[in-house]
Amino acid sequence: STQITLASRPTGWPTHENFAVATIELPELVAGEVRVANEFLSVDPYMRGRMNDVKSYVPPFAIGAPLEGGAVGRVVESASDDLAVGDVVLHQRGWRDVAQGDASEFRRVDEIPGVPLSAYLGVLGLTGLTAYVGLTVIAPVQEGDTVFISGAAGAVGSAAGQIARLKGASRVVGSAGSAEKVDLLTSRYGFDAALNYKDAPVREQLPALVPDGVDVYFDNVGGDHLEAALDVMSTNGRVALCGAISQYNSTERAAGPDNMSNVVTRSLRLQGFTLAAYFHHMPEFVAEMGPWLANGDVVFDETVVDARDDVSGTIDAFLGLLRGENTGKMVVRTA
Ligand code: NDP
Repeated sequence: STQITLASRPTGWPTHENFAVATIELPELVAGEVRVANEFLSVDPYMRGRMNDVKSYVPPFAIGAPLEGGAVGRVVESASDDLAVGDVVLHQRGWRDVAQGDASEFRRVDEIPGVPLSAYLGVLGLTGLTAYVGLTVIAPVQEGDTVFISGAAGAVGSAAGQIARLKGASRVVGSAGSAEKVDLLTSRYGFDAALNYKDAPVREQLPALVPDGVDVYFDNVGGDHLEAALDVMSTNGRVALCGAISQYNSTERAAGPDNMSNVVTRSLRLQGFTLAAYFHHMPEFVAEMGPWLANGDVVFDETVVDARDDVSGTIDAFLGLLRGENTGKMVVRTA
């Protein structure tokens, strides 16, 4: 099996030097184990945090050990009564072509006609659930709300914009980092307006797009975006703090928003969340998202990178994700 290991910890932006390709001989299966040929691997922004030697809500990756992450594949050998050859399974042993372990680490999922298996790593999986929990539990959207979403052309953001609309928002505004992405937000994902944060400061661009203020802000970016949103929040607004990707590769301490006092004077509720505490919302999420996808109420895009024989395409995909080379979910196709 070929896998990607962590060679060293990055300072600032990671590079190829921080990763290594390792080929190992897999032992024979013992009772209860399965062997899975991965078909799609996920790369996600939180993996950048796991490259640091810092204890967070997920433990750091170990030097010399394979990286881990979401993956979907097919059982090719089974010594377990629970999983059969041919079953499609979702699991956490990504960054490699073949995964092996106890059957309990692999969750069987159904193949949905017309929906690629990679959707389980994105819109039908944890990224879709993140958008859903953010807008239904953390900062619930109410009928008639104006909603602002940063990182809106990414995996979480593109789902969030569409969920906001389906939950009754009357105006949905997004931000992204290229003209092409900004076009997609309005032409494909149903946003009413969008801004390119590279054109001019968000703080200068946002007010004109939200004349009635913002009731719900879904923050994927932090920093300049959070500051701009706090300027235009309406009284009793809600903010779901989902991520702060503008700061993940920064080596300096980020300056705080200079307008945090608006949280007090406008009675705002800013709540952070990490999805692990909300996995129990998966059944209700799937019950809503399944029909939305089937009816075309929610569309999704993926940027698919070829893993190549040595799986090193996974590294390119991860580095590209941090630079914004993806629209929608960044996934890696093996073999
Ligand atoms: P995305 O698909 O959104 O990919 C990351 C995107 O971030 C890039 O495409 C890029 O798009 C954008 N980006 C990179 N640098 C910057 C910057 N300096 N300023 C603004 N945008 C930037 O990834 P995900 O959808 O998987 O994740 C989105 C966010 O959600 C992340 O912050 C992630 O950490 C968070 N998250 C949190 C979870 C939780 O449990 N709280 C669970 C899952 C994700 P562009 O071209 O627009 O710059």
